[in-house]
Amino acid sequence: MNRAAQLQSLESEACWDIIIIGGGATGIGSALDAATRGYKTLLIEGHDFAKGTSSRSTKLVHGGVRYLEQGNIKLVKEALRERGHLLKNAPHLTSVQEFIIPVFSWWEKMFYWIGLKLYDILSGSLSIGKTTSLSKKETIAHLPSLNTNKLVGGILYYDGQFDDSHLALEMAATGIKNGATILNYCKATGFIKENNKIIGVACIDTLSGNTYTLKTKTVINATGVFTNSIVQMDNHLKHDLVSPSQGIHLVVDDKFFKGTSAMMIPKTEDGRVLFAVPWHDKIILGTTDTPIHTISYEPKPLEEEIEFILKHINQYGNKLITRADINSVYVGLRPLVKQKGKERTSLISREHHLSISPSGLVTITGGKWTTYRKMAADAIDNAAFIGKLTKVKCKTTEMSIGDLEERKNNLNTILKADPTLNNLLHPSYPFTKAEVIYAVKHEMAMCVEDVLARRIRLLFLDARLATELAPLVASLMAPFLNKDKNWEFEEVKTFTALAEQYILK
Ligand SMILES: Cc1cc2nc3c(=O)[nH]c(=O)nc-3n(C[C@H](O)[C@H](O)[C@H](O)COP(=O)(O)OP(=O)(O)OC[C@H]3O[C@@H](n4cnc5c(N)ncnc54)[C@H](O)[C@@H]3O)c2cc1C
Repeated sequence: MNRAAQLQSLESEACWDIIIIGGGATGIGSALDAATRGYKTLLIEGHDFAKGTSSRSTKLVHGGVRYLEQGNIKLVKEALRERGHLLKNAPHLTSVQEFIIPVFSWWEKMFYWIGLKLYDILSGSLSIGKTTSLSKKETIAHLPSLNTNKLVGGILYYDGQFDDSHLALEMAATGIKNGATILNYCKATGFIKENNKIIGVACIDTLSGNTYTLKTKTVINATGVFTNSIVQMDNHLKHDLVSPSQGIHLVVDDKFFKGTSAMMIPKTEDGRVLFAVPWHDKIILGTTDTPIHTISYEPKPLEEEIEFILKHINQYGNKLITRADINSVYVGLRPLVKQKGKERTSLISREHHLSISPSGLVTITGGKWTTYRKMAADAIDNAAFIGKLTKVKCKTTEMSIGDLEERKNNLNTILKADPTLNNLLHPSYPFTKAEVIYAVKHEMAMCVEDVLARRIRLLFLDARLATELAPLVASLMAPFLNKDKNWEFEEVKTFTALAEQYILK
């Protein structure tokens, strides 16, 4: 992926079939879908790819056990089908993960065993492993760090796991290979209309300041929690479509939850779901579901959310986790579609929502990372109809994402030019200096944050260390971006201020 080449094709195309605004899971999935159907496709992302919610998930490719309990069989079935497709289409970016629900009464054991058996049955031929009832001894063998007080046993079930921003980047690369033009740091600023119908998009390259007016047959709004602002840009509606809910995650060392199994607490005393999931040799603890009114790119964790997770997770572990043990805290905003009478965001459906405005703007929002492919297929079906494009069927159901071989070859080329780049950035983590160069040359990383947050996930894994490594990363990037020492200095300053928010005091 080369940004200069993408900018060139942005400038040379007279009229696009589809312009997609937003480079998270939904937008990039839509660009990939549209390009593989042969449509002239442009995606513009105002910040970096997956800067929004799509890099801040719990990293689960899942059907959603919780939605089963809420009786939403249709949603669970669809998500389980998509889970199966994603694990097959991107095997190097996803994995099957064992989950254990510890149970503290025989009634609970029976209840969750039946529920999880149904979960497994609903996945049909795309099942990834059998749900099993575990004795107390077996449960402890899977979760050696579990507090065994009053423990009766456990239920073992399977779901998927992934690295969200890596998947987004590989989807973008696959989209470009299939003919899409995909640009980060290019923000939509307005619509061009003729007879009240959208015929173009105005945007700005936020790195150069250059502005563009682009003609198109149809536009998709895939901006997640920013949906309302794009809808208002279209028709100045005061009514908000999306009502955001915040979820935080605490990342701690794996000494607190030993072994390879994840733990799922289906119902805390106030009815929430809590996970402890191994990820890149750390443990992600989360999440919360707090309605919020202010949308920002860097939402802040609330004290009560931090306390909630620590209090509840400490009831299940045998090693006390304190604030000082937290390596990083990251926060995401759910783009939930407003529903009348449902004030508690945890009750709002996670199904996706598609609407078409009188001027032809196709808005797709809600849903989950796991269901991005289905959301994209729906968005493109509708956009093709609105734009009067030749009807072509969706081709992504069994389409491979990413190219591991190509990645290895590109890394080898970087290493051939300078073998010292094989050195690690830090002895405690497997990331090499070559990966920083790779991120600049092949993944459109434009600043230190792009590398440390979404290419190498150190900001999420260990925010203090990420800050320490920022000067090194800036100095590695600078020659490949034609930047000077002043740029390095400013980058380190900006990144350090950002990382502060991921560090608990
Ligand atoms: C705490 C939490 C945990 C979650 N865990 C999971 C999980 O484990 N598994 C799962 O399947 N799902 C999970 N989800 C849901 C999933 O992460 C989201 O549904 C998904 O990432 C939403 O993607 P999106 O593309 O719609 O939005 P986003 O990722 O937010 O992308 C929207 C993009 O639009 C861009 N944008 C905004 N305005 C403009 C503009 N004017 N011009 C250009 N671009 C613009 C933004 O910069 C942003 O990058 C979780 C969500 C949260 C909040």
